[in-house]
Amino acid sequence: MITAGEGKKIAIVGAGLSGGVIGRELAEAGHHVEIFDRRPHIAGNCHTERDEQTGVMVHIYGPHIFHTDDAEVWNYVNRFQTFMPYKNRVKTTSNGQVYSLPINLHTINQFFGKSFRPDEARVFLETLADTSIEQPETFEEQALRFVGKDLYEAFFKGYTQKQWGCSPTELPASILKRLPVRFNYDDNYFFHHYQGMPENGYTDMIGHILDHPNITLHLETAFRRTQTDGFAHVFYSGPLDGYYDYQFGRLGYRTLDFERFTYDGDYQGCAVMNYGDESVPFTRITEHKHFSPWENHQGSVCYREFSRECGPQDTPYYPIRLVEEKELLSHYVALAEQEAHVTFVGRLGTYRYLDMDVTIREALDTARLYLFAEKADAAMPSFLHAPV
Ligand SMILES: Cc1cc2nc3c(=O)[nH]c(=O)nc-3n(C[C@H](O)[C@H](O)[C@H](O)COP(=O)(O)OP(=O)(O)OC[C@H]3O[C@@H](n4cnc5c(N)ncnc54)[C@H](O)[C@@H]3O)c2cc1C
Repeated sequence: MITAGEGKKIAIVGAGLSGGVIGRELAEAGHHVEIFDRRPHIAGNCHTERDEQTGVMVHIYGPHIFHTDDAEVWNYVNRFQTFMPYKNRVKTTSNGQVYSLPINLHTINQFFGKSFRPDEARVFLETLADTSIEQPETFEEQALRFVGKDLYEAFFKGYTQKQWGCSPTELPASILKRLPVRFNYDDNYFFHHYQGMPENGYTDMIGHILDHPNITLHLETAFRRTQTDGFAHVFYSGPLDGYYDYQFGRLGYRTLDFERFTYDGDYQGCAVMNYGDESVPFTRITEHKHFSPWENHQGSVCYREFSRECGPQDTPYYPIRLVEEKELLSHYVALAEQEAHVTFVGRLGTYRYLDMDVTIREALDTARLYLFAEKADAAMPSFLHAPV
């Protein structure tokens, strides 16, 4: 058994939320945790940085809004940071008009030039739905079945096409599980009970999580699978295919390019403006000072966001997870399941899109299972949640 003092020596790959939370839990339990990240900063994709010129807190890898129904996770993040009230209210520009998202009563009334009450709008929408589609199989069929052609083309078609780089006719219906419309004026994007923004940004919050005497941090240090010797266990939040040197090929991701620009004043009056038209090459513009509405800045930092296929040198953002990718994934999972001392965690380690609250929930559960397995002298699984 590999020990350091009283605790064991544990390696954690990735200083994002997954690695940070697992590291903290194990450090508090007395283990000696070494965290490796290939980037020069902590916080993974949640990294935030204050822009020197304007003072605006910038979400470097795209905007992150914290929302959850999980009270334990909410209490956990509030231990390390004050959360400020924040409601995500998204707008979209379609064909030269600005609308409110998710599609709500205001959107419907504005789009069709009506003044429907909720029940009237519900009946009206039923007349638009394409009821000839009995068993929707694709995203497009599902959307047409729910909202009809006009709303589909204005709010879903172009955006989805740009985001995923393929026609909505090639995407499964399951992406659009429920009717994406509200028959009231609620334009709060998320339904979750708790919602907020960390007062000093996510990097500061994760910095506090990592601030423990049993944690040693190695930045700008890539970790390879040849380095596991000397550690009682490894928690790996890097890309699963990368751990095995992409030997079966690369798992497909979408990446994002951010075209950053600054503005003197208020560029768009809101944090997120989507662009659904296919003729506009970007998916949205985010104006970062609006993610911190309790701050005041004259200058502004904005990102135009472009989505494209992820190449070997790009940052992987959204796992594609269509039939082909799942097939490839199953080969990597089979390899990973043979590991006795490595657990794959987080969005890259399990090749799933995970919101931050789910990431933290899974990280807490993973650390607890490890501590339990250790006591019971039981094996630690390679995955807590099966990726396939
Ligand atoms: C564009 C975008 C917007 C999002 N917005 C939201 C949102 O609004 N709300 C929300 O709840 N969630 C959001 N998310 C999800 C959120 O980003 C994730 O939940 C979170 O980043 C997952 O944390 P993680 O630690 O698993 O992964 P990451 O944050 O990706 O951390 C993994 C870390 O591992 C490091 N690493 C990888 N391989 C190695 C290696 N071999 N050696 C050393 N280090 C390595 C990487 O450098 C990285 O820092 C968004 C995601 C994206 C892509």
